[in-house]
Amino acid sequence: MARQEKAGQAQVCPLAKKCGGCDYQGIAYEEQLKKKEQTVKKLMKGMGEILPIIGAEDPYCYRNKVHAVFSRKRNGEIVSGIYQEGTHKVVPVETCQIEDQKADAIIGTIRGLLKSFKIKVYDEDTDYGLLRHVLIRTGAKTGQIMVVLVTRSPIFPSKNNFVKALRAVHPEISTVVLNVNERKTSMVLGARNITLYGKGYIEDELCGCRFRISPTSFYQINPAQTEKLYKTAMMLARLNKRNVVVDAYCGIGTIGMVAAKTVKEVIGVELNGEAVRDAKVNAHLNNMNNIRFVEGDAGVFLEGMADREETVDVVFMDPPRSGSSEAFLQSLLVIRPKKIVYISCEPQTQARDLQALKKDYKIEAIQPVDMFPMTEKIETVVLLSHKKADSYIHIDVEFGEGEGKIPVDSIAKRAEAYKPKEKVTYKMIKEYIEAKYGFKVHTAYIAEVKRNLGLPMYDAPNAVEELKQPRKHPTPEKVEAIKDALRYFAVI
Ligand code: SAH
Repeated sequence: MARQEKAGQAQVCPLAKKCGGCDYQGIAYEEQLKKKEQTVKKLMKGMGEILPIIGAEDPYCYRNKVHAVFSRKRNGEIVSGIYQEGTHKVVPVETCQIEDQKADAIIGTIRGLLKSFKIKVYDEDTDYGLLRHVLIRTGAKTGQIMVVLVTRSPIFPSKNNFVKALRAVHPEISTVVLNVNERKTSMVLGARNITLYGKGYIEDELCGCRFRISPTSFYQINPAQTEKLYKTAMMLARLNKRNVVVDAYCGIGTIGMVAAKTVKEVIGVELNGEAVRDAKVNAHLNNMNNIRFVEGDAGVFLEGMADREETVDVVFMDPPRSGSSEAFLQSLLVIRPKKIVYISCEPQTQARDLQALKKDYKIEAIQPVDMFPMTEKIETVVLLSHKKADSYIHIDVEFGEGEGKIPVDSIAKRAEAYKPKEKVTYKMIKEYIEAKYGFKVHTAYIAEVKRNLGLPMYDAPNAVEELKQPRKHPTPEKVEAIKDALRYFAVI
């Protein structure tokens, strides 16, 4: 059961001074929220409207992921807890105000079992011993629990009996995984997972979607606030059925999948292969066939989109604490989505990145959400809209037959208002022709006409490739339409 704050009086943790994990220990929750708002105001002053922070109903016991490092005291006693801030000294922790209470109890049971199973805890200095860390993840909605035993070696003596003994005390455990970390490193998890019991992953639910979570995949640690965070992101994006959306830094695909219910298509991009595998399974779990995932660096992926002259309507981005990359931000400026929803767990790097986008984007709203009560960590969602969202290349109406068509003079007005400093894109030419003539022209046809006119081709490598293949040539009518468009955009 969660603890309650009595009459604005914060509960004081006995470990507060030693542990250092909760910077806002002893500060009433309302006061913590005010402090966070102040921090955001200071960092983002003058950048855009800062909305009141969204606080938590219950600021205690929210962490669904609990990590304990194991160590041995000089007198031989086994302890588990957290590293004292800035050191490698372990502060023993039995229970913690912000952690899931069941997880704390399971860690206590593991600590008690080690002696009878003769399992040695790992010693960093000598590189000797077996058990390094224990990680517990719980699904708040499903009640599923995953125990990850991080060990120095894949050989865990009497592993089946160990799992049996652990489950005898905690039958609620759904899966036990051995994670092998053989390196002398401060990183908690290694690359190899061996399932000792159950499926090797757990599932949870957020915003009506079901998600599978593997040991090393990222998953937001405060489920109640995550739902508020995602709903805020969706509300700010104001998605519709025509939208094509990118979910960058997508983890197991949570944001993209919540968005997929409302939009035409979602592309998620994520660096961690295990998270991408989870994301693909999650799309099936939720019967979604309008979402796909790409494994790789988000910056490289966006650069590719920019090169191919692709565009999307909305980009959600949720990078790690270090923020986004120059490649990503610069590509955003080329792709020019109408809206960007930038979610961040480090407003400092977010403020830096926003500076880079400011030239073409207006910051419409900055919404802090308290994902990490008792700590000074802040999460913010920022909505950016393109300053020329109504310009020619962002026409919001589907081109089609009959009445859906945009009158040419309105296109012309938009095109006039929009004076491209950069090159005229193939997409612009195609849209112009479709609106004016009512037919589509292939990129390769435009490239062919440009080549015949002796114009540079460097900006359409794909079209040049396609031209090498034997294919039909454009009809005279299409050639004329393309020339007309090129004249219109002052290319010839
Ligand atoms: N949006 C997700 C995950 C956010 S955490 C959610 O709400 O759950 C940030 C994610 O970015 C992590 O999953 C991390 O693996 C991923 N990541 C880190 N660097 C990346 C990069 N260069 N390109 C793509 N993804 C990256």
